[in-house]
Amino acid sequence: MAELHYQDKRKIENVIEEIAYSRVKRFYPTIVSKATDLPLNTVFEYLLKLTLDGRLKLEWEIRCDDYECNSLILRTDDIDQFIGQYVECECEREILINENIIFPVFSISGHYRQDIRESKKKSPSLLKAL
Ligand SMILES: [Zn+2]
Repeated sequence: MAELHYQDKRKIENVIEEIAYSRVKRFYPTIVSKATDLPLNTVFEYLLKLTLDGRLKLEWEIRCDDYECNSLILRTDDIDQFIGQYVECECEREILINENIIFPVFSISGHYRQDIRESKKKSPSLLKAL
């Protein structure tokens, strides 16, 4: 994948900062894609990078494959151990866990959220130092 232009990175990072400053605990890549007008896979790739530098955490949600139920069955940061297993939903369906019913969900790391909140309070001191 080609490196994202800095403007696109900033678009994504601005959304992440807004989320970090809000009370939102978890968010789906689709929200960021809609907010930035960038393709979902582009957004997802970049959000993955932000998990590597400590800003975000990635988890996976397993949802019931019944269209009307769609309940959240479980959320995990280690999806590999669940693929191919059967779980029972609260609607009593027995479900084989596969790629079609797992969804990535991101959360803001505690440290990053704290940093964002503190930096919004402070006035810029760098210019004084220059
Ligand atoms: Zn269900």
